[in-house]
Parts: sequence; structure tokens; C-alpha cells
Amino acid sequence: MNKEQLLTSLEGFAHPSVISAMSRVPREMFLPDLLQSRAYDDTPLPIGRGQTISAPHMVAIMCTILDLQPGMNVLEVGGGSGYHAAVMAELVRPGGHVYAVERIAELAEAARSNLARAGVENVTVIHSDGSLGLPEHAPYDRISVAATAPSIPEPLKQQLKSGGKMVLPVGRDSQELYLVTRKNGFSVERKMGVIFVPLIGQEGFKEREIEII
Ligand code: SAH
Repeated sequence: MNKEQLLTSLEGFAHPSVISAMSRVPREMFLPDLLQSRAYDDTPLPIGRGQTISAPHMVAIMCTILDLQPGMNVLEVGGGSGYHAAVMAELVRPGGHVYAVERIAELAEAARSNLARAGVENVTVIHSDGSLGLPEHAPYDRISVAATAPSIPEPLKQQLKSGGKMVLPVGRDSQELYLVTRKNGFSVERKMGVIFVPLIGQEGFKEREIEII
């Protein structure tokens, strides 16, 4: 697929503002050289260390569910290549900021250079265990989690603003995407079946559990 075909294919389910944001973020700048020709295929692709950049339709669906608005303070757990963070950063401009947490130092470093190359200025990449959230910049209007957890991590719920929303995959062999909304307590809505890499950390899976997946 080329970029135009990909963007057209998102029209049935993605909000127009999300498609427009994706049209302004060059996905090729978030991929290794060897995969340049596949930058607009609607599929996850390897980014090193056994991890993947999410498929464009999944980024589009998660951004649409989150209803990102200019000025928002956003946390992304599982920054990977930095691509998804860059799309969210575009949606919260002007005035908004995305904090992207990544547990693999090498990927965090690559994401920083990808974002700089793409000219994205409102994303900060932090190397840490995002299953604990990022208390120093909380509370967040929106939280987007790009790796699947055994259950909804409590620290992430607690770092949502009142009225805030979080989208995340939960489960191991069979995973579901959930929308959590904080408003006089928490409501949890199941959206669809999905496939993500595991969230590994204190409130995620333990590394030794993962070898057998
Ligand atoms: N949003 C990314 C998708 C990356 S895949 C993109 O657009 O490219 C999910 C990422 O979550 C992987 O890079 C993996 O290393 C990371 N991850 C897994 N557990 C994590 C944790 N506890 N904290 C932060 N990142 C984590």
C-alpha cells in the first residue's frame, strides 16, 4: 500500500482528525532502513529486541477511542519506535504533551532520534517501567498502553484525571482492548479482540512468565 491508500482505508472507523494527524506523521522515519518500502502496509513491523511498531489501523482505532484534544497531557506506556506517540502529539497540538515510557533503553534512544528526525517537539521519551505509570507528570487526561497487561494496572488508573480516559489491551493468550473512564469511580468498556506484545514489569507480566508465551 502507499500512504494515500492506507489513509483511505482508515476512513470507515477512524475520526477525520486522526486520519489527518496520521497524514502528517512520516511512518517511514520510525522504521529500520530495510523496512522502508513497507512503511504504509497496514501491519505491525519489527523494530528490534523482539518488539513491533503497531499496525496503522490499531493506532487509528486507539486514537479515535481516546478522543484526544489540543492541550491534553498524555501518557503512552510502551513507546517502542515513537510512531504512536508522534500521532498523539499531533492531535494534542497546540499546548499538549505526550510522555512516552519505554522499558528497553535501546528502543527509547531510537525513539528519541526518530522523533527528532520527524521534527516532533512535544514528546518526551522516558526509559522506565511504565506499568507503574509516570507519577512525576501525572495526572493525565489520556493514557494509551501499547502492550498487554495481566489486568488493569492500578497505578495507571490512579494517574488518570477525573474525566480522563485510558485505552489498553488486557489478557495473555486471548486479549481484549478496553476503554477505562474515570468519572465518580471507574467505568470499563470492552472494545474488541487484539494482539499486542506483553507489558513486562512490576504491574505487568514477569519476564520469566513470558518465555513460555
Ligand atoms: N507504540 C509503539 C508500539 C511498541 S510495542 C510504536 O508506535 O512503535 C510495545 C512496547 O512496549 C515495546 O517496545 C516494549 O518494549 C514496551 N514495553 C513492554 N513493557 C513495558 C513496560 N513495563 N514499560 C514500558 N514499556 C514497555
